[in-house]
Amino acid sequence: MGIKVAKFGGSSLADAAQFKKVKDILLSDPDRRLVVPSAPGKRNATDIKVTDLFYECNRLAAAGQNIDEAFGKISTRYHGIAQELGITVDLDSRLDEVKKNIGLGAGADYAASRGEYLNGILLAAYLGWDFIDPQTGIFFDEDGHLDSAKTQVVLSKILAEHDHAVVPGFYGCDVNGKVKTFSRGGSDITGAIVARAANADMYENWTDVSGCLMADPRIVRDPKPIRYVTYRELRELSYMGASVLHEDAIFPVRIAGIPTNIRNTNKPEEPGTIIGYEAEEHENEHMITGIAGHKDFAIINVEKAMMNAELGFGRRVLQALEEAGISFEHMPSGIDTMCVVVAQDALEGKKDRLVHRIHELCAPDSVEIHSGLALIATVGRGMVRSKGTSARLFNALMKAGVNVRLIDQGSSELNIIVGVDNLDFEVAVRAIYRAFVLEDTPAKTY
Ligand code: ASP
Repeated sequence: MGIKVAKFGGSSLADAAQFKKVKDILLSDPDRRLVVPSAPGKRNATDIKVTDLFYECNRLAAAGQNIDEAFGKISTRYHGIAQELGITVDLDSRLDEVKKNIGLGAGADYAASRGEYLNGILLAAYLGWDFIDPQTGIFFDEDGHLDSAKTQVVLSKILAEHDHAVVPGFYGCDVNGKVKTFSRGGSDITGAIVARAANADMYENWTDVSGCLMADPRIVRDPKPIRYVTYRELRELSYMGASVLHEDAIFPVRIAGIPTNIRNTNKPEEPGTIIGYEAEEHENEHMITGIAGHKDFAIINVEKAMMNAELGFGRRVLQALEEAGISFEHMPSGIDTMCVVVAQDALEGKKDRLVHRIHELCAPDSVEIHSGLALIATVGRGMVRSKGTSARLFNALMKAGVNVRLIDQGSSELNIIVGVDNLDFEVAVRAIYRAFVLEDTPAKTY
């Protein structure tokens, strides 16, 4: 029998009706034996996440104020779920203890973590599964980073002792044995850590969307979902601004060779997006996997005749950037020009000094900085094997009247990056989407 680790986000566990869906999902596949819950999230647009209520309680306690009212809201949420589902668990004594500890100054991490802790207790009782407290199996080091080596050893041992278990997300244990949380949204990270420690076959991340979309829905109307994306492609897409899983939630499963499946708790019949490996050769319907990008980059153009023959020229340009504390994003270069793309705000207050320093170090013919550039990455592992990809891309931009100011075909050959004026950004994204998706013949071109 295989093992799937299923992580459910806050909206998937926001109330009793959502708990029922979660139970149905878990019981419909016997491989789903480990579950990582978030704290109850928002039930509607104006609702407050339980985690935020806990932070509020902590804030009030730290200010010496009464937390009865704020804590009452938390208590009502959990009791509501327990009552509606007929879960018989001693919630009151646990809530009392948590409230007491927050009042005694247990701190923000402890308070915030109780959202997941209490939800985990409820879910374990509802499912009749074991409860594993991550404070006993997920560890942080002295610098506050995840101690992945220790966690892997201890947690895998603990997990091996349980057939079916609930491991709350979002927190673990610091070097002093105290509760420490990940950054906000950190239950995704816990899910990946548990999947790695269990040596799972799949890490399922259940949320309220049916996976990743091929483009930003704020720019393209109803973009198609991505069925299959590789970890490398995902890295390119998220680097360029697509909002997917946090890097820290990708890393543990990626190194362990475990695929991730993003699924929708409210539409479990939909397959969602699988994030996996190149070797698996899943094909998508279209030649590209997705489009991502964002605005507000600047190009630094350094020109010098015979630059290519001058040893160390590139290093000196980058040295000037390094001295100014500016990291660069891309470096598409020509024969006599070197072009460095940086985030526009990184240049703030440093432009003149930087230009001066490049002159000092490199004696170029000219240095120019152009701001207001948007970068768009068209990503697809299939692109490299197919003819006419760039022609299709540039044709689409030309037809849309977009002037391309920069081209960079990533050396990974997974993507083509174009730089356009900030004002052309949305038009360009829509033109690329139209050319590769809407006007694409569904037959595979590679
Ligand atoms: N409950 C935590 C938060 O709201 C962690 C999570 O949901 O992943 O940030």
